[in-house]
Amino acid sequence: MKNLNKFMLLALSMLIMSCGEKKEKKEKFTIGDEDTYSTSSSSPSEKTSEEDTQVKEVMLTGNDQMQFNLHEIKVKEGQTVKLTLKHIGTMSKDVMGHNFVLLKQGTDIPEFAQAAMKAGEDKDFIPENTDQVIAHTKLLGGGESTSIEFQAPKKGTYDYICSFPGHYSLMHGKLIVE
Ligand code: ZN
Repeated sequence: MKNLNKFMLLALSMLIMSCGEKKEKKEKFTIGDEDTYSTSSSSPSEKTSEEDTQVKEVMLTGNDQMQFNLHEIKVKEGQTVKLTLKHIGTMSKDVMGHNFVLLKQGTDIPEFAQAAMKAGEDKDFIPENTDQVIAHTKLLGGGESTSIEFQAPKKGTYDYICSFPGHYSLMHGKLIVE
């Protein structure tokens, strides 16, 4: 029995030693490869954050009947939004101009529209020195298109309108930030 115990102890200590040796070898190996090791191990987490911040492309159209094709746009907080506005009608911008104006929460839309009308076509119907606009496109006439990029604001629901005089009551929608 004594001998067996001794043998087991020896075997055990050898096992521990060999384990320790292996560990040491492994550590030495990773030290040399540290750069590649750390980049490859951190890439999966980078990928998930990349998905969250992936550019969201939105195609919004406006027509001669004063209609947007989208009344709801869903994006994620902080996400880069690439919005393309296309005027699919044929009427000129002085009679049927369209833009996309994203407004801050709490904006009084009729009041804003009034200020937009005063700003006039030269300003693309964007009131000067306004602090109520998060992002906007220029004013388009039939057949024209334009793209803008902006960062999605914090979670919540935001109104967007066409600020051409008289259009907002038909041309409006919600940007939902999740
Ligand atoms: Zn319009």
